Amino acid sequence: MAQTPPRPTPCTTDPDTAGFWAAAQQEQLVVLTCRQCRSVVHLPRPRCTQCGSEEMEWTVVSGRGHLYSHTVVYHQIHPAFPVPYTVVLVSLEEYPEVRYTGYLPGAPDLVAGVAMNVFFESLDGVSLPNWRSA
Ligand SMILES: [Zn+2]
Repeated sequence: MAQTPPRPTPCTTDPDTAGFWAAAQQEQLVVLTCRQCRSVVHLPRPRCTQCGSEEMEWTVVSGRGHLYSHTVVYHQIHPAFPVPYTVVLVSLEEYPEVRYTGYLPGAPDLVAGVAMNVFFESLDGVSLPNWRSA
């Protein structure tokens, strides 16, 4: 039986998202916000999509949210992700329009709207935000 290879890790040095990964390394979940108009900018960009300001900052959020949607994957497409596994889409408590993804092994019994909490898993030196039922 073949051994499962390690899961791939994200690029943590991209200028638009490096702050997200640096915060995750401290086990903090953040969103990018505009210092001028306080809008959240998701996906992260170098300037505000509402007012055009380049004065952006990472804002810490609670790590609480609600399951927006999920899907169970039964067809394996990458050897590092044995099936079945579940991809979750979580809507943040403070910014419901911001949705982060997560990966859960297996096929847990989930219902849209259920409360979710972030946790951080270490993967090859990278702290990766992930989600579980509250
Ligand atoms: Zn703005």
